[in-house]
Amino acid sequence: MYLYIMSRPHSGSTILDILLGSSDSVASCGEIIMGMERGMETWTCSCGEILADCPVWKTVRQRIVEDPGTDWDELVEASVRQGHKTHLPSTFLASPSGTGERDRFHQRLRDGTMKLADAIRSVTGRKVVLDSSKLPSRGLFALKFLPDARLIHIVRDPRNVLASHYWRFHIGDTYLAQRRPWRGPLAPLAFVEAALMWFFGNLLFEIIGRIDPKRVVHIRYEDLRDDPASVIRRLSRELGLDFEDVIERIDRGETFDTGHMMGGNPVRTEGKVAFDPGKEKARERPAFLSWIAIGVCWPLMLRYGYSLRSDRRAGNGAKKTA
Ligand SMILES: [Zn+2]
Repeated sequence: MYLYIMSRPHSGSTILDILLGSSDSVASCGEIIMGMERGMETWTCSCGEILADCPVWKTVRQRIVEDPGTDWDELVEASVRQGHKTHLPSTFLASPSGTGERDRFHQRLRDGTMKLADAIRSVTGRKVVLDSSKLPSRGLFALKFLPDARLIHIVRDPRNVLASHYWRFHIGDTYLAQRRPWRGPLAPLAFVEAALMWFFGNLLFEIIGRIDPKRVVHIRYEDLRDDPASVIRRLSRELGLDFEDVIERIDRGETFDTGHMMGGNPVRTEGKVAFDPGKEKARERPAFLSWIAIGVCWPLMLRYGYSLRSDRRAGNGAKKTA
């Protein structure tokens, strides 16, 4: 199975990836597209090695290079290109059986991606490849072109997503919706933009999911935070995979190894990660973030069951332990 996580940024995809990746049947790869884009020679795997030196990714690349039917550089270039949002219309229109240029590009990417997944399975000895690239375009591709793909759409209350942006913004980290620095009196507009991105991004995930609803599971980050075992059990049931080992680890309060995640949130490079719901409740976000989030996102917030009057506590949920 090719398991793909799609979400907006700051919505819990990394911690979900780390939890599922602790299963003996799952090879957690992190954000594959990000890792490919940053480059094998320069980007660091979550194990601490440069990708080109990591025992997993070095061997996976070697397998692709040795396969006469595939070309590593071409696969990377096509994967990154297809993952970009401007490629969405092309992927929507492409056909798995067509003969046009657009169809052939996607079919070739499908063949290369299936060989990549086979190499990952054979190198790690795990049957499920987990890719948390999050990107809608990649999710659409997986659903249309990879017959064994299943998607998890994880959503988080936009008030908490904006708060997550806000706290990073506050400490001088200017990572926001379009990775632009926002300063001065217009700064709140950045949060309006982030709220719009949340709304249209999740709307897009809903539309993609309609293509084959049986292969897509929608979950909320808050449910994962408050009762991870129940959410993991539901995923286990709906995906037809056995995650009892993950639930046992959660029940024992174990920390989670970040393994060989190619790309993703910086938390992946922090060795062992624990769930820390307590931290989540420690900070109170400014009221204006809630007004922006509700003003822009309310139709989907209602759909996902978020009360428009809930409290103002929020946070991240993952912490470094080693
Ligand atoms: Zn590694």
